Amino acid sequence: MRAFALQNHVPIIVEEGLAFLEQIIRIQRPKKILEIGTAIGYSAIRMHQVCNSEIYTIERNKEMVLEAMTNIEASGFKDHIHLIEADALEAFSCVEKESFDLIFIDAAKAQYTKFFELYTPLLASHGIVVTDNMGFHGLVQEEGQGQSRAVRGLIRKLQSYQEYLLENERFITSVFSIGDGIAVSIKKD
Ligand code: SAH
Ligand code: MG
Repeated sequence: MRAFALQNHVPIIVEEGLAFLEQIIRIQRPKKILEIGTAIGYSAIRMHQVCNSEIYTIERNKEMVLEAMTNIEASGFKDHIHLIEADALEAFSCVEKESFDLIFIDAAKAQYTKFFELYTPLLASHGIVVTDNMGFHGLVQEEGQGQSRAVRGLIRKLQSYQEYLLENERFITSVFSIGDGIAVSIKKD
């Protein structure tokens, strides 16, 4: 799957980031995980394999959904990985009856704050939100050096999301320079 992702420019989570996410799952042993941004199903399958968590994963791109379906089917875990084809900003009703121990945010960077606000009401007590790509492929560090307006705009959105997390009193957040930058936010109650 990694080779397919590389060849087709699908931004799946980097090895180091995945190892960190897997460790969090080993410690927390979440029963249910919500993932925003399935792509080809790579991280969903890997998260499930850690301790058999039930995975709900949302993807809006039709081609990705088809590829993810094939991969999930081949993995043999299709009864435990529930793929929802929708824009995550419009898919709340698909999962609103569930309670999640962990939410993994890994979709459109400009919408991170909206995803967080929309889905964290479904978080169980002591639930954890893990956000990938806080470093936006290294670009946040190199800000300003000949980047396009669009890239600068996204960097600013990621920075304001980070501030939003750090200032959020209902969560304790740490941002790690692991992989492409990972934020871990733990619900306080
Ligand atoms: N989690 C995957 C990688 C996800 S890449 C892994 O590590 O294996 C990000 C994916 O999010 C892309 O496939 C993109 O189509 C999807 N995406 C972006 N914005 C979205 C949205 N608003 N709703 C649903 N999916 C979205
Ligand atoms: Mg990512």
